[in-house]
Amino acid sequence: MSTRTIVWFRGKDLRISDHAPLRDAADAGEVIPLFVLDPYFFAPTRARELPHRMQFLLDSVGALETTLAQRGSRLLIVAGKSVEVVPRLVREWKADRVVAQRWVEPFARERDRRIRDALGAKFELHEGETLMPPGTLRTGAGRPYSVFSQFARVLRETAMIRTPLPPPRSLPPVPTDVGAQLAVMPTCKQLGIERNPALLEGGEQAGKARLKRFLRDAAAAYPEHRDRMDLPGTSRLSADLKFGTISARQVWTAVEDALNGTPAARSFLNELVWREFTHSTLWDRPELLESPFRPGFAGFPWQYDEALWRAWVVGETGYPVVDAAARQLLGEGFVHNRARMISASFLCKHLLIDYRRGEAHYMKYLTDGDWAQNNAGWQWSAGCGCDAQPYFRIFNPVTQGEKFDPEGNYVRRWVPELAKMPARHIHHPWEAPEAVLRAAGVRLGQTYPRPIVEHRLARERFLAVAAQHLKRDTRARVASPTITRPRLDPSQSDVLSPGVRTRKAT
Ligand SMILES: Cc1cc2nc3c(=O)[nH]c(=O)nc-3n(C[C@H](O)[C@H](O)[C@H](O)COP(=O)(O)OP(=O)(O)OC[C@H]3O[C@@H](n4cnc5c(N)ncnc54)[C@H](O)[C@@H]3O)c2cc1C
Repeated sequence: MSTRTIVWFRGKDLRISDHAPLRDAADAGEVIPLFVLDPYFFAPTRARELPHRMQFLLDSVGALETTLAQRGSRLLIVAGKSVEVVPRLVREWKADRVVAQRWVEPFARERDRRIRDALGAKFELHEGETLMPPGTLRTGAGRPYSVFSQFARVLRETAMIRTPLPPPRSLPPVPTDVGAQLAVMPTCKQLGIERNPALLEGGEQAGKARLKRFLRDAAAAYPEHRDRMDLPGTSRLSADLKFGTISARQVWTAVEDALNGTPAARSFLNELVWREFTHSTLWDRPELLESPFRPGFAGFPWQYDEALWRAWVVGETGYPVVDAAARQLLGEGFVHNRARMISASFLCKHLLIDYRRGEAHYMKYLTDGDWAQNNAGWQWSAGCGCDAQPYFRIFNPVTQGEKFDPEGNYVRRWVPELAKMPARHIHHPWEAPEAVLRAAGVRLGQTYPRPIVEHRLARERFLAVAAQHLKRDTRARVASPTITRPRLDPSQSDVLSPGVRTRKAT
């Protein structure tokens, strides 16, 4: 007998290729593709808090509507709180079950737990966000890994990454007795968001094209170019992976096939393993969205200087690479990984500002803003995370700039007031001779700021504060001021689809 299945697309799986829930539903009978406009994300006040992600999401859902229609199906869009809407639709549409892709975040797991309790039908969650179900890899003692190199070694030695599923050639039409109370996807304008033309295009086709371009133009030189902020040396697939317009498995296998065990393949796949590590870590330690991995950092005496914070946000610290990163974030909703590391380190260590504040700012403006990866990136940079950069390693923004933006072109692009500075001086204009500054049209303190802190002093201050704090007895510490962080309406469960394991990781 045919089964009627609601395939609930939830914003991290906006594709039809390698989509296990969709395949599963189509194999079983009637398919009802669903997207819920939950006010938690789509209320205009909320949507405006994540303008770049929202634009990419709307474009990607729009593209999904088109692809499903081309295959003979239809995406049904319904407005309301997921925890109420989904159980109601199951009853109204007489569905036998709901299938979806699992999320790892703690709030999503809680959301799904509530939905499962209210559903009155089967709720099946498939893997798909990561290469392997988070929580799969364990140390000999059965504990989660806290050292990346060990996690990566075990993943490469033992993981079988299954071959991605092809897209369905056709899908059954949505049954005629469903479809009441449908909504349409809002536009950016309706949500009060101004479209940013500099963002990457969303959608499955655009993601596949990006992957193809990367493999053709940049993948082979990835190890040499990946840290260069001035070159298009990375894949730019992070938003696709975040919204699932392409799956991690698709990227993994495409790179394996194209680069075939070369050092370039290893280097790139290692970054996908970092992605895996961050999701796995958050799965096992959900409290990380609230508190540092290293307990010694609890109650760290961060400072709250609004002027310094504003200078960092708008890109007027006087450190060109840090300013370029800040402006790239606001300008195109993306920051090069090296620039993220320099900029995050600068905020926490040079300015002594709480990493959670930077984390929230990045989550607001990054198109690829992802709870697991962003939190891990910030905790790594602050020195308090799982296998983080040691707290006493402090990036020097000048030497980092000279090394990873040797001609200064990254700075020139994002800090145009320094565009005419020669490469030799562009990363430390305050040390340039007066004649050089004049020739470049730079008036320090007027057209471009002087450094807001002095590197050596800031470094010594952080080291002293951190050393003092870390040697204190944890029990005596007071809690640091709370940074408000948007919380999701809860939802998620733990039914896993058995993964078909056909490929071994390189
Ligand atoms: C402070 C900070 C915040 C970050 N916030 C995010 C975030 O919100 N979302 C996000 O996707 N990445 C985040 N990263 C990781 C990294 O900067 C981006 O994934 C990368 O810059 C995206 O560009 P790309 O797709 O061209 O990367 P590529 O170099 O082409 O890498 C391929 C993929 O591997 C993954 N990846 C690469 N580097 C890392 C890493 N260090 N940690 C985890 N996964 C990685 C990404 O999914 C990326 O798309 C953050 C890093 C730092 C230091």
